[in-house]
Amino acid sequence: MSNRWGIPKEVEDFVKQRDKSCVYCGQEFRDNPQSRKHKPSWEHIVNDIRINDKSNISLCCMSCNSSKGAKLLEDWFNSDYCNRNEITEDSVAQVVKDVLKNIPKLK
Ligand SMILES: [Zn+2]
Repeated sequence: MSNRWGIPKEVEDFVKQRDKSCVYCGQEFRDNPQSRKHKPSWEHIVNDIRINDKSNISLCCMSCNSSKGAKLLEDWFNSDYCNRNEITEDSVAQVVKDVLKNIPKLK
């Protein structure tokens, strides 16, 4: 797994220990992933690559990552992908919930 984002090594190590499954859909990662669902990828929960600390860096599966893309979390939760996979702000990992609590609500 490459780290192209300038994520500090200590953050990378911490997140790899913490996120053993996708922070969005909960699929467990595998060492030899056969499908995109089991392949981890680096994710900035808030799409700002300048926020490189462990509260914003996480691991999610390739499938969620490509679906989310550059969408805002709140918009993404309303997507067909999230509906189909039953991904909501209540179902995601704690690290995502913590970010959600701290995002200023858009008026
Ligand atoms: Zn996922």
